[in-house]
Amino acid sequence: MDKASTQKIIDRLSSAQHPVLLTHIRPDGDAFGSLLGLGHTLRARGQHPSLFVEGGMIPMYQFLPGSELVHDHPTRLPEKTDCIVSLDTSTRERLGPKTLSWPQPIDIVIDHHISNPGYGVINLIDSQIPATAGVLFHLFQQAEWKITPDAATCLYTGLSTDTGSFRYRGTNAQTLHAAAALVELGADPSEVAKQCYLSITHERHALRKLVTDTISIKDRKMSAYLTILPEFYAKSGAKSEDSEGIIEDVSSIQGVEVGSLFEFMPDGGLRVSLRSKGKVDVNSIASSFGGGGHKAAAGIRFTKDAQKNQELVLAAISSALSSPAK
Ligand code: 5GP
Ligand code: MN
Repeated sequence: MDKASTQKIIDRLSSAQHPVLLTHIRPDGDAFGSLLGLGHTLRARGQHPSLFVEGGMIPMYQFLPGSELVHDHPTRLPEKTDCIVSLDTSTRERLGPKTLSWPQPIDIVIDHHISNPGYGVINLIDSQIPATAGVLFHLFQQAEWKITPDAATCLYTGLSTDTGSFRYRGTNAQTLHAAAALVELGADPSEVAKQCYLSITHERHALRKLVTDTISIKDRKMSAYLTILPEFYAKSGAKSEDSEGIIEDVSSIQGVEVGSLFEFMPDGGLRVSLRSKGKVDVNSIASSFGGGGHKAAAGIRFTKDAQKNQELVLAAISSALSSPAK
């Protein structure tokens, strides 16, 4: 991790009494884990952070200590705000539409997305670390800031969920050392696993069943994709965040190199999720359509022409599979 920019961020964060912490739209475990991990750590230092994310907390992550500290975006930032921090968010736009009308610059960007252009005044982006929670762990160590048991639980959750429970590429000895240190500091691995992986709601399960039934397999069984139609939510009673993780059902099939999921939105848009086992760089496919992410997991959002764009993305996957990047 870059020590000089880490130190700049430590200095900037130390001098803020009322920092605002933000994370990305459609937040996941790393988004909430990082937001609360930094929130707890700054509070333990006597600072007064405000934590915001589009839509506020979601039920699945309510088990995280301090979840009541997370709020939906306000129209205007609190008056005393003296530092704005973006966590785990690869582009400025992914902080959410409401944030775009805030006049203040983003002071600090802390992230691990290779596609992050560095839109902050100070940026710490380390794509070698598989979760933003891991970037924060190293930052806290360099700063010699105390990591409380609550902060440890949140950071551990970010590490666990963004590595698919320490299974994905990018999980290395350093990741496991960080995880072990967080367990020593108070995180409970089986409790986090129970909450994150063994607590699927019946609505989520019903959605998953509808979606997995749409599977199509192509490109010599190396590509498989799923489709979500708007009516699936009404049929299953699930919410939009319940689609998180369903893509694993196709990307985990033997021989499938690229798994993708196409969500047709009620407004005519299309949300695309891509996963690769390693032969194909899905970040470069996503980037060619204006999206981004990581080599092994990336996404795109189209505001129109859903059907046409689905075909274009599937064609790009086919082409990448016929000439793998490495
Ligand atoms: P997911 O498929 O889980 O929504 O996202 C996979 C990865 O791609 C995440 O790291 C996420 O930040 C990134 N990602 C998803 N959608 C977009 C997008 O529309 N734009 C960009 N730049 N990144 C995205
Ligand atoms: Mn992340």
